[in-house]
Amino acid sequence: MSVGEDPPILPGATLGVMGGGQLGRMFVQAAQAMGYFTVVLDPDASSPAGLISHHHLKADYQDEAALDELARRCDAITTEFENVPAPALRRLAQQRRVSPGADAVAIAQDRAREKAHFVACGVPCAPHAVIETPAQLAAVADALLPGILKTAQLGYDGKGQTRVRTRAELAAAWNELGGVPCVLEKMLPLKMECSVIVARGADGAMVHFPVQRNLHRDGILFVTEVYEGNVPSTLCESAVIATRKIADGLHYVGVMCVEFFVLQDGSLVVNEMAPRPHNSGHYTIDACDLSQFDLQLRTLTGLPLVAPRQHSSAIMLNLLGDLWFSAGEPAVAPPWPELLALPGAHLHLYGKEHPRRGRKMGHLSVTGASVAQTRASAREAARLLGLDAF
Ligand code: ATP
Ligand code: MG
Repeated sequence: MSVGEDPPILPGATLGVMGGGQLGRMFVQAAQAMGYFTVVLDPDASSPAGLISHHHLKADYQDEAALDELARRCDAITTEFENVPAPALRRLAQQRRVSPGADAVAIAQDRAREKAHFVACGVPCAPHAVIETPAQLAAVADALLPGILKTAQLGYDGKGQTRVRTRAELAAAWNELGGVPCVLEKMLPLKMECSVIVARGADGAMVHFPVQRNLHRDGILFVTEVYEGNVPSTLCESAVIATRKIADGLHYVGVMCVEFFVLQDGSLVVNEMAPRPHNSGHYTIDACDLSQFDLQLRTLTGLPLVAPRQHSSAIMLNLLGDLWFSAGEPAVAPPWPELLALPGAHLHLYGKEHPRRGRKMGHLSVTGASVAQTRASAREAARLLGLDAF
């Protein structure tokens, strides 16, 4: 069942989440704050969301008995990662209200289908070619090189991506990736990266957060900065219009993030979309009157969608497992008391027991009444963490 004309699902009801990662955990926290009960489905016994949910079904995402139990226990179900199998969402949707819908998720989880959707919406994306066969590999235009070869499915945090300069490197990279369906994208000259998060209700009403400026390191989000004047206002307008077109075109219900590149010539190009809240929107918990998880809750339950207001400048630093190893082995946690002595510092840790390099352990949001104060605190936080200046 899609979220439709039905009456809203009120506090006291039970909500389900497919996936137990940090995004699921922050959704569970938002839902529990409003008096909902939660059930998380995730095979991992120590998943961040499973640890704090009222119930945790430890089963595979394709386990039909577990899916049916999730549907039985819940009044509505959402998802926290885009690689949840679309057939599982379809099975749940036969029994319960589910958002986002399986069709939108199926498009977002496949780069080839995702790019086709951007083209259909008239939103410019990187020049690219789909490579599924040796013939398509041979037919790639020279103009797409140098480029980045990305697996069509299951890539995240820069995984499943290889930079290629020549046709020989391209062929070798495709072999290396096992000859699976891929998309080759032209390498674009980036000036900056940004993202927009929208929440769209079943009636098509949409609200959005301010445009977020993102800095990546090694293919992983490093810092998100959100304050007035951070991104030129004409670009902000174009990015919001493009995001709304992309969400409308999918008849999307839920929270969606669209990532953009701003090129050296100032033009805007869409990179990819995520059918869920996004790492670049974590600052909304501390810097806005409604967070991206509050809006995910409202779209799922059919409660009113009110435009969120950012009340503080914000800079979010991702806390990767690498920070635990800056002095080598064994793992030592970063200096939390010193960090928390900084004005406007908000620490979020996801309850992951074992730090690993590249693993998202938490994030630190820094808020402030002025941009200067926020930047000063965030720079000091980066110094205390041993992160490169940004
Ligand atoms: P995530 O899902 O964590 O956002 P991902 O693995 O899906 O990441 P992308 O967003 O496709 O990866 O790429 C990661 C980063 O690599 C981008 O944010 C950008 O910095 C760089 N990048 C990707 N594609 C291009 C491109 N065509 N030209 C230049 N830089 C690129
Ligand atoms: Mg990305």
